[in-house]
Amino acid sequence: MNYKHVYLNGSDCDLPVGKVICVARNYYAHIKELDNPVPTEPIFFIKPATALQSLDEPIVIPEYSQSCHHETELAILFRNRLSKATPDEIEDAIAGYGIGLDLTLRDVQQQLKEKGYPWEKAKAFDGSCPISPFIPTEQISDPQDIQLKLTVNDEVRQDESTRLMINRIIDLIRTSSSYFTYLPGDILMTGTPAGVKQLSSGDTLELELGNRYKFRTGVA
Ligand code: ZN
Repeated sequence: MNYKHVYLNGSDCDLPVGKVICVARNYYAHIKELDNPVPTEPIFFIKPATALQSLDEPIVIPEYSQSCHHETELAILFRNRLSKATPDEIEDAIAGYGIGLDLTLRDVQQQLKEKGYPWEKAKAFDGSCPISPFIPTEQISDPQDIQLKLTVNDEVRQDESTRLMINRIIDLIRTSSSYFTYLPGDILMTGTPAGVKQLSSGDTLELELGNRYKFRTGVA
């Protein structure tokens, strides 16, 4: 695994690469498009460190799936340990913000869901979390109102503000840290807005955070 966290300005990031805590069903329009029930509390799952890859690397769709979906999400990088975190601890702990893809093998996930099995084969495979460089906290004025945009082959697929999250960022961190301790270098993926769709070999993707930071990647 070659992945390392990097900052957009090129300054050194010596945080280790850790787990990725993810939240499912955090935007109403996305819940509706997949015909899922609205959860009464956040649904968390975890991707291992081996899921992370730089956007400089091509996305590789596993051969056991015919339906790899993009989910474009705000990513948060942590520099401190957090357990049952208070608001002050949370503020101190955030190292930066990025934009990433929670790649999801929708056909595999559907089969697992029907059997009541865990989702890992569908969501935690190698390279299932392509992620941008991180922008230091002080350069993001309001992470709770920042635009997430994904364009695939010049077609806008997802374009929504984090304002529409059901569970706000601070609540996601507080709640998740009561179940799972965050270690320095861990990431939180905050859920996808609507517009998830299938990726195909040869697609080119542009991810844009806050109408300002643009990153490109592609599917092998
Ligand atoms: Zn997701």
